[in-house]
Amino acid sequence: KEQLALFRNHLKIKVYGTDIPNPFRSFEGLGKQYQVEPYLQRNILASGFKKPTPIQMQAIPVILHGRDIMAMAPTGSGKTMAFVLPILHDLKGPEKVGYRAVIISPTRELATQASIYINAKESPNSSGSIFNQIKKLSVGRKFKVCMLTKATAATQGQAPHLRQKYDILISTPLRLVHAIQQEKMELDQYVSHKLLEQGFLEQTDEIFAACSHPSLQKSLFSATLPSGVEALANTFMRSPIRIVIGSKNA
Ligand code: ADP
Repeated sequence: KEQLALFRNHLKIKVYGTDIPNPFRSFEGLGKQYQVEPYLQRNILASGFKKPTPIQMQAIPVILHGRDIMAMAPTGSGKTMAFVLPILHDLKGPEKVGYRAVIISPTRELATQASIYINAKESPNSSGSIFNQIKKLSVGRKFKVCMLTKATAATQGQAPHLRQKYDILISTPLRLVHAIQQEKMELDQYVSHKLLEQGFLEQTDEIFAACSHPSLQKSLFSATLPSGVEALANTFMRSPIRIVIGSKNA
């Protein structure tokens, strides 16, 4: 127990909450402990990731245990993989039943990803966008990912029969609210995860109202967590575990 405290301390991992799963130390160890499928292990290695970053060490076991999470870690610290890996692990493989995971991310970040989406086949290694990291980590499984942004066509992925073929939805907050309100998209039908990144707060009420399904697991990853956001997140999460990496916001 003392060793665990030292280990977290050394990596500047702060944790708050009850029954917090231990951090893992290597991707090999993670694979053994959580039966992560070999294809995911291979893709991690193929990405050139030799060892997990601190946020990955602590956040991935928490999500794999089915717990809600609020995670703060600096930009560039590997947050994307920390939620993409557990989603892919949980979804197992593609199914034609509609979105089973929803990732919400700010407009600014998705704007750069839209062009990567189009060029995904030509430049699989360009940058660490959410879409790209899903593509890299899911090689060998034909997951279908739908991107909803202001720039994408209004109809894309919206009609129920179109939605069916997708496994994962990536959306901006505004676009998702539009889909919920105007197109009567029901999030609680198939969604098993809901992952939020910073910058979504303006539209939270509608999004949370559409995510009332009790089995929905929720994660919030951000570089900072203003106290107002934390209070709000606490109202819709079930006994969340809070993780803070680095000295900020401690
Ligand atoms: P954040 O979301 O925290 O801003 P990213 O998830 O975009 O950070 O990761 C930043 C960069 O680090 C990306 O290029 C990503 O591919 C890379 N990266 C993520 N995890 C690892 C790892 N375990 N080892 C090496 N590089 C990693």
